Amino acid sequence: ATHLIWLRNDLRVHDNYALHAACRDADATVLALFIATPAQWKSHSMAPKQAAFIYQNLLDVQHSLAEKGIALHTVQCDDFAASVEALSDFCQQHHVDRLFYNYQYEVNERQRDAAAERRLFDLDIISQGFDDSLLLPPGSVLTGNREMYKVFTPFSRAFVKRLHEGLPECVPAPKPRQGAPLSKTPEIKPFDYPTEAFDSELFAAGEKAALHQLRHFCQQPVTEYPDTRNIPAVDGTSRLSVYLATGVLSPRQCLHRLLAEHPRGLDDSNVFVWLNELIWREFYRHLLVAWPKLCRYKPFIAWTDNVKWQPADKQLEAWQQGKTGYPIVDAAMRQMNQLGWMHNRLRMIVASFLVKDLLIDWREGERYFMSQLIDGDLAANNGGWQWAASSGNDAAPYFRIFNPTTQGERFDKEGEFIRKWLPELKDVPVKHIHQPHIWADNVGVALDYPQPVVDHKEARKRTLEAFEAARKQS
Ligand code: FAD
Repeated sequence: ATHLIWLRNDLRVHDNYALHAACRDADATVLALFIATPAQWKSHSMAPKQAAFIYQNLLDVQHSLAEKGIALHTVQCDDFAASVEALSDFCQQHHVDRLFYNYQYEVNERQRDAAAERRLFDLDIISQGFDDSLLLPPGSVLTGNREMYKVFTPFSRAFVKRLHEGLPECVPAPKPRQGAPLSKTPEIKPFDYPTEAFDSELFAAGEKAALHQLRHFCQQPVTEYPDTRNIPAVDGTSRLSVYLATGVLSPRQCLHRLLAEHPRGLDDSNVFVWLNELIWREFYRHLLVAWPKLCRYKPFIAWTDNVKWQPADKQLEAWQQGKTGYPIVDAAMRQMNQLGWMHNRLRMIVASFLVKDLLIDWREGERYFMSQLIDGDLAANNGGWQWAASSGNDAAPYFRIFNPTTQGERFDKEGEFIRKWLPELKDVPVKHIHQPHIWADNVGVALDYPQPVVDHKEARKRTLEAFEAARKQS
């Protein structure tokens, strides 16, 4: 028999449910396939840095699979519809009997998989999908009425209860098969998609690097996470998002590593703070399945679509380029533009600024983030944006509006982060770093830094009025 593992967002050999199942029959020939779909990626605004990261990880996983005697092939076509054709052609060429793959939960991806299963069924090929990218499958953590939770805290509580009842198991990497290691592997041609170099120290490609980073974080930094996680100048978070978003690492590996270091992790309030972030990741993915409209640029709270947004022109550009005149916002945007990654506290601040200070449609921000982030992930990104825009499940209420200056003062007290990313402010004294123009005017210094694009107080008033008017319309 010939088994095919169709790799997508699961670029790893360890703890990969579909790969493990494909290899269970020791006599089967196992092949692997990855299909690049540049036109689809473009329509999803995939960041060139993420495309480059995926490419590097394909090289890595191809090498690991070759050691196990499994050849990874890559094919390029336009979009998901074409990928169904490419998959069926490949299966026929290689006389595939069974297909194994891990589910993706976004709408386009699910439609593609349903079409692929139908097509292969007509060719007498049986497909088997797996819930692999989550700790617990969508639909398995429900309220007493068997509905998906709309609010995070009770979801998290129910989630932990499930974990206490039994932990999801990790599966090992497959054993080397007959013919391993392969002496030759198919060439992986670069994709016909823009790529951009990424910082290979911060985001080293490959499972080994991901596991090393996980191990390091779970030993010591995780115990300090409650204190450090909100300070962008401190390297206090795990920086594992890129690996989780591309499936180089599984959340089960994260959970088991955490519990290996901290056996009481489910109950230990310190360590649990980090686990709770992984549960946020699960929450947003479960929501996508319960409310597929979230994948279609729709808000969860319908009336927020009545908000009269400002045109997305010069101010959007200033925000994108980190030139709003609000130092914490600008430093954050420049961090993302350069690294393809932004600290979570800052993602909240800049998202709030775009929506609540500039009154620009959150979907503009969601799209721009995807186009820049190396860890771009529809569920987490949409969840984060809808939270900031007050349009989502369990979102910030619309009248809660971050003050970007006080946020900066609170979370970058000494201006260390600002100074790193805005060298033009390096001579501004610490106590004025969050409002540099006031200082510059007083001492008569000309700053090569933009004036604030809006006045926060006025912007806040305008936003409250816009949201209130929208709510009344519903
Ligand atoms: P840690 O703090 O170490 O957290 C561990 C892991 O938990 C992360 O790697 C991530 O997988 C998950 N996680 C943490 N916070 C969240 C959260 N709020 N929602 C969902 N999952 C979370 N995360 C992405 O992975 N991709 C995105 O495209 C993305 N876009 C976002 C957009 C906005 C507006 C906001 C507010 C948040 C967004 N996040 C996104 C969530 C979060 O900011 C990042 O996951 C986090 O900053 C990644 O850094 P880390 O790996 O060091 O996180």
